[in-house]
Amino acid sequence: MEKPDLKKPKTWAGGAPAVASSMKHVIGRDGPLRGPRALLELNQIGGFDCPSCAWPDPDDERSVAEFCENGAKAVASEAMPAHVDRDFFARHSIDDLLARDDAWHDRQGRIAEPMVLREGATHYEPISWDEAFQLLASELNGLESPDEAVFYTSGRASNEAAFLYQLFARAFGTNNLPDCSNMCHESSGTALKQSIGVGKGTVTLDDFLEAEVILCVGQNPGTNHPRMLTTLEQAVKGGAKVVAINPLKEAGLTGFAHPQKVSGMLGKATSLASTYLQVRVNGDQALFRGIAKCLTADEPFIAAHTTGHDAYRRTLDATPWDRIEALSGISRSEIESLAGLLASGEKRVITCWAMGLTQHRNAVATLREIANVHLLLGAIGRPGAGLCPVRGHSNVQGDRTVGIWEKMPESFLAALDAQAGITSPRRHGHDTVASILAMHRGEAKVFFALGGNFAQACPDTSFTAEALRRCRLTCHVSTKLNRSHLVHGRRALILPCLGRSEDDAGRFVTCENSMGVVQMSRGTLKPCSDQLLSEPEIIAGLAEAVVGDTGKVRWRWLAEDYDRIRDWIEAVVPGFDAYNRRARQPGGFYLPNAAKERVWQTESGKAEFGCDDLDAFDPGEGRLILQTLRSHDQFNTTVYGNHDRYRGIANGRRIIFANPDDLKERGIGPLEPTRITSYAEDRTRTVEGFLAVPYDMPRGMAAAYFPEANELVPVGSVAEGSGTPTSKSIAIDIAP
Ligand code: SF4
Repeated sequence: MEKPDLKKPKTWAGGAPAVASSMKHVIGRDGPLRGPRALLELNQIGGFDCPSCAWPDPDDERSVAEFCENGAKAVASEAMPAHVDRDFFARHSIDDLLARDDAWHDRQGRIAEPMVLREGATHYEPISWDEAFQLLASELNGLESPDEAVFYTSGRASNEAAFLYQLFARAFGTNNLPDCSNMCHESSGTALKQSIGVGKGTVTLDDFLEAEVILCVGQNPGTNHPRMLTTLEQAVKGGAKVVAINPLKEAGLTGFAHPQKVSGMLGKATSLASTYLQVRVNGDQALFRGIAKCLTADEPFIAAHTTGHDAYRRTLDATPWDRIEALSGISRSEIESLAGLLASGEKRVITCWAMGLTQHRNAVATLREIANVHLLLGAIGRPGAGLCPVRGHSNVQGDRTVGIWEKMPESFLAALDAQAGITSPRRHGHDTVASILAMHRGEAKVFFALGGNFAQACPDTSFTAEALRRCRLTCHVSTKLNRSHLVHGRRALILPCLGRSEDDAGRFVTCENSMGVVQMSRGTLKPCSDQLLSEPEIIAGLAEAVVGDTGKVRWRWLAEDYDRIRDWIEAVVPGFDAYNRRARQPGGFYLPNAAKERVWQTESGKAEFGCDDLDAFDPGEGRLILQTLRSHDQFNTTVYGNHDRYRGIANGRRIIFANPDDLKERGIGPLEPTRITSYAEDRTRTVEGFLAVPYDMPRGMAAAYFPEANELVPVGSVAEGSGTPTSKSIAIDIAP
């Protein structure tokens, strides 16, 4: 890889550079017709849903270009020709492909046909669909227990594919249904269920336009949810105050030049955050504890809707300010001024967050603290106010809603059994980390992934690779080549599926976005290969081969017409009444959310204050806290390129950002190669060759891109209560 080039970080996002970058990717990869045509359908009524993040589309009118730069890159990547075929694999051995970087993998194009890696082979070779399903059936039915299989889901799977998949896994006899949500917003679901009774956000896009204050905490929308900047700009122009709470100065939080406005294309940016608090990494619980200490409770709301306020008030009184300031890195006066802002006006406050809050040991406690602040303000379940976990994958919320979870409640399993005529297992299954450990111990022997790039998304890269390599069979349903295909079991399969943008015999699927809107997605592009199957068809073929038609389940019949799958979802999952009719409505429909109506489906039937111990990660004397993050040229583990324009990085992935004084103190100059060592209970982990980049962040912090830095994240280090890997707070040291 070329030597990176460092430029001054940007102070605004969007504008002409975003358009130029989008067009470079789209036309560069798909040519002047296929790519641009796909963009015209992207996020349009009757078009297809963006396969990238889960930021919602406007309920009313949509713009002609209803997408952002990263949505365009995702579509460009998916709309590529199918060059990864038998000839490609004949040219490239596994070892050769392992030596290439992730951006190279993504540039190779779509997978054209089913491929198998036979035991001891060095190259993938073609296989027929039937033979592939038979191979899967022989391995799965050869297991001593269904729990020796793991069925992983990435957030790209549609509701229909996800429902059929969980039905198959449960008909097969296991709840081993880990998903990417285990690694991202599991902490949000856990905390919100405890506090307000629903594991999802409580706001709509319209609420942003009614809010007085919008807090963006532990989130980098400029890269991870770029269309959110349009909403933030509208809100600011409507008089709202945006407050950014993030250790790093991020361009997308400071300013936005709207690329669909002349002023924006000329680089005239709207200032977004009027307050920018560079909190200490994992100092958010302390910050919100401080805010709560300053607030006067909304007594009528508290009395009518909550329980536990008195105990929480005692917790607040018992928490000393110096501890709050030390753990948050924010001064009492800054906290008091923020609390004053939140308590001003009608307290129409929205708090948004992402991984910067969910991937810490105390993540659940931090999110309950945020919910506490909203309960004190009465800022939930009314216009312009509420909680907003921003989902990072297009249908990760929908997958969970239709049954992709290793511990679905009895109510769901009973309804599923009644509808399908099967007996689902009741023993909870493995989440993502438990699946890695089970494979590493040799207890789980078959790994099946519906999308995703498990080997790169997971913590402890080498340990996870060992786990996968101990499997008898690893199988991936994929659109593009990725490293997980190369980190394989004794035998391996790649099953190529249709992309979101491609025509699926005229059928449509549905997805649920961050705000609980379920809407239709129908691809229109000619499939890049005539050997692709849709995700539901692949699952039906697999299920028919492994368990056959069972109970009332006729797999092929269900996969033939997705209306049938939706009828089953309607019968099993609350809130999907008249699913097929409402899915055809322009823009789809909102799923019910009791907390929005101030109905609290908690144990007490009230919204519950949490009184968690105040905590913040301590890396140990002389060490730094590492957080892993995305560059602007990637979506999750898909790397579109090696640039990170907003942070001033060109041509660099093995990069470690740190405070200039922390680097100087260690005798490390800009772009000098470093060795990074992480410290955990079990052992240390070391990576080499990360180039140092001095960056505007508090002392004691560092940041590096995943998947490269996942090697440093201990598999056993997870958030209490949710099991989410603590990828945002790892104890490290850096040496020249
Ligand atoms: S904001 Fe998210 S969903 Fe919207 S176009 Fe961009 S990546 Fe896609």
